[in-house]
Amino acid sequence: MNCTFCGKEIKRGTGIIFAKKDGTVSYFCSSKCKKNQLNKKYKPLKTRWTDIYHIEKQRHRKKQQSVQ
Ligand SMILES: [Zn+2]
Repeated sequence: MNCTFCGKEIKRGTGIIFAKKDGTVSYFCSSKCKKNQLNKKYKPLKTRWTDIYHIEKQRHRKKQQSVQ
């Protein structure tokens, strides 16, 4: 199970499961991630400390390299 926001793995017995009214379920590794997603409406791809941000950045780099 990975964090919906930052993409990090959540160990068993830890983390927060959040069910929205529309039926979608989110998993958060910490209250920090939960707050960022729900209160601040941050996008993981634009938030520097998430794993998803770094993965996306690397992907972009690889793309650029393959073009050259
Ligand atoms: Zn997280």
